[in-house]
Amino acid sequence: MKAAFFKEHGGSDKMIYDDYRDPAAGAGEVVVRVKACALNHVDMLLLDGRFPPPEGLPHVNGCEVTGTIETLGAGVTGLARGQRVIVFPGFACGTCEYCLRGQRTVCVRYGYLGAHKDGGYAELVKVPAGNILPLPEAIAFEAGAAIPLAMLTAWHALIAQAHVQPGHTVLVQAAGSGVGSAAIQIARLAGARVMTTVGSDDKIEFARSLGAEHVVNYRTQDFVEEAKKWTNKRGVDIAFEHIGGETFERSTYALTRLGTLVSIGSHDTHWGRLDLRHVYSKNLRILGANLGSILELRAILDELVRGRLKPVIDRAFPLKEARAAVQHVLDRKNKGKVLLVP
Ligand SMILES: [Zn+2]
Repeated sequence: MKAAFFKEHGGSDKMIYDDYRDPAAGAGEVVVRVKACALNHVDMLLLDGRFPPPEGLPHVNGCEVTGTIETLGAGVTGLARGQRVIVFPGFACGTCEYCLRGQRTVCVRYGYLGAHKDGGYAELVKVPAGNILPLPEAIAFEAGAAIPLAMLTAWHALIAQAHVQPGHTVLVQAAGSGVGSAAIQIARLAGARVMTTVGSDDKIEFARSLGAEHVVNYRTQDFVEEAKKWTNKRGVDIAFEHIGGETFERSTYALTRLGTLVSIGSHDTHWGRLDLRHVYSKNLRILGANLGSILELRAILDELVRGRLKPVIDRAFPLKEARAAVQHVLDRKNKGKVLLVP
């Protein structure tokens, strides 16, 4: 098969489009013919070596995949060749303490499609049959590929972890990103009010169209001051944070007393400082979230079919132009998700 992969770490110039070993379905596995695969920030960390692929190089990125079933491994039942599917990207052992508690995203042997195994920047990808969900006819392959990581993580962070409620005020960092554009919609769906940040004025209208009430250009405005103004000096109930560094630290300053910061990524840096006086004196909650459950993914698919959530797609590149697609994301030119289509 053809795939877009890399043999050494670096920038988009390290992406190679060429022949790659064909995946073969073992017992309990299926091979999916990829129809669309979304790019993620984690792909950039894998490519540049900040998060080296655990199984080594060469490596195929891509954790958000839709397609059709190509082959079924031994013992797989309930699925059929040619069926339209979406892949749940998290792997869990099913037997450790956390799996038994029903918290598979913190499995001690947790892994991701496209990180711990070769992913979907390819014509074919192999996954455990238990990670397959049918993709409803009403959802196009491209739209489906925009949700398994970005929208699911945003959903789990806001609904399950931060317990967003009607009337809450929510600060969402980086409306232009896949997770940011998802978080704005999910917070609105839950009845909350949303303010968000963008890095350029041409993304302001886009952020408003997703449901953000107040949009701040973080390059020219102070989002902490803006959060205080927007809430009559009170501060926001929830900060949805995925940048790290100073943005993480300052997001806690935007919180009101008893507020919650939920961290779902570290797209600029893995490190963030806290002024502990804010944490204890305001009784803040600082939470993490990592993907979500397959049940939550099903709930999101239902919301998509009902038209209450909409994946935001910036553009789709042909698979053979993966290098240009990666550079497009690295340049932060995208408004929403960038896809590869074989
Ligand atoms: Zn486990």
